[in-house]
Amino acid sequence: MTSQNASAQFDKQEIWQKDRDHFMHPWTDFSTFKETGSMVFHQADGVSLQDADGKRYLDGIGGLWCVNIGYGRDEIAEAVAEQIRDIPYFSTFGHHTTAPAARLAAKLAELAPGDLNHVFYGCGGSVANDTAVRMIHFYFNQLGQPSKKQIISRIDGYHGSTYMAMSITGVEVDHIGFDIDRQLVHHISSPNPYRRPQDQSLEAFCDEKVQELEDKILELGPDNVAAFFAEPIMGAGGVIVPPEGYHRKTLEVCRKYDVLYVSDEVVTAFGRLGHMFASEDEFGIVPDIITCAKGLTSGYLPLGATIFSDRIYEVISKPQADGAIFTHGFTYSGHPVSCAAGLKNIEIMEREGLCAHVEDVGDYFERRLHELEDLEIVGDVRGRKFMMCLENVADKTTKDLIAPEAKVGNRIADECQQRGLIVRPLAHMNILSPTLILSREHVDFVVATLRESIEAATASLK
Ligand code: PLP
Repeated sequence: MTSQNASAQFDKQEIWQKDRDHFMHPWTDFSTFKETGSMVFHQADGVSLQDADGKRYLDGIGGLWCVNIGYGRDEIAEAVAEQIRDIPYFSTFGHHTTAPAARLAAKLAELAPGDLNHVFYGCGGSVANDTAVRMIHFYFNQLGQPSKKQIISRIDGYHGSTYMAMSITGVEVDHIGFDIDRQLVHHISSPNPYRRPQDQSLEAFCDEKVQELEDKILELGPDNVAAFFAEPIMGAGGVIVPPEGYHRKTLEVCRKYDVLYVSDEVVTAFGRLGHMFASEDEFGIVPDIITCAKGLTSGYLPLGATIFSDRIYEVISKPQADGAIFTHGFTYSGHPVSCAAGLKNIEIMEREGLCAHVEDVGDYFERRLHELEDLEIVGDVRGRKFMMCLENVADKTTKDLIAPEAKVGNRIADECQQRGLIVRPLAHMNILSPTLILSREHVDFVVATLRESIEAATASLK
């Protein structure tokens, strides 16, 4: 699909200048940005992007873990245009709705595990998590347990950038220079098997991490702990797959102390691991709340959802006092155009069997990426299916890191970019979260390009 806009000539220098001077980019190192500015992307189709000079790149990060169905889908453009013509917006506050918002909520209830039959909409993942916190607090207030407020999450967990979502986030470098709510949120350690003591078995490591959750609940007092937030696989913290049984056992601990379990599936839902939702299908748990965004619309339009259980709905939907209602919501909750994009996105995923495709090609992707473990600096290749990470180290035995000043993740990403592949640098690591339509041939290109790029980056370190 090539729109008139995209094919129109534009002055690359003008865009570069306006962007550098006025657009404050998220998560950006301005010490370098002020000099280099941005790379300007121009068009995208299928698995690839094109820059303003017409150079093509395979998008190895799916936009930002989100363009699951790939770029250039006319069907989404048509669904969105049709919805804008029908009714572009109306408030969903109170007793009003539109067809896409209602239909998508029902579809999500059908796809979500267990009795997670209710959907609250926002515009992204951070807000979905903030909504979960407000909902949980309201829930316990309604139940007459107002002391149950504390939140537990993990080091290396990423849950978003709003004040509360960033407080729940446990990626410690993300907190530098900012404040977080340390009264309300408590972090337990990361269940990262790669960083466990050398002589510790995976089983013992898992038990230790589960025990840590129980100890934290007991330390804070079960009457004070409201919820545990966890991604099925930690994404932005370095694609950390907890040891076998971790999710099931942490859920059991939560159940024992009446602590609600929030599964943050902002990255893992909608096919990235080969399932619409990973909590039950990949890890065998039915949480109380699932938060999702990104792949819900494949990034075509902003949309997030907090999907929650009948049990929570029963409590929060009962007024306890005159005028006491669930006073939470956004102008764009249930935006009909975003919901239309979400519905069409899910329809495409189902029709094209994208989950089955990920099961198949995702296994091949994992297998081929593991071949890179023979490279001098590749300490760990981890993740599942289309959610993968390479951890680069100075010494594979001690697992010591390469000096941060060397910016090894950036060096590798730059080398890849020169060769027509976008990968994401994350400190000393590189993340791969491509569109879900990748073929085996694309995988071969990604792996070959990574190999050359890592070799070049390694040589440049010497
Ligand atoms: N939760 C997880 C697991 C994420 O990876 C992200 C974003 O990357 C978020 C929440 C925040 O989502 P958003 O950036 O849409 O607010």
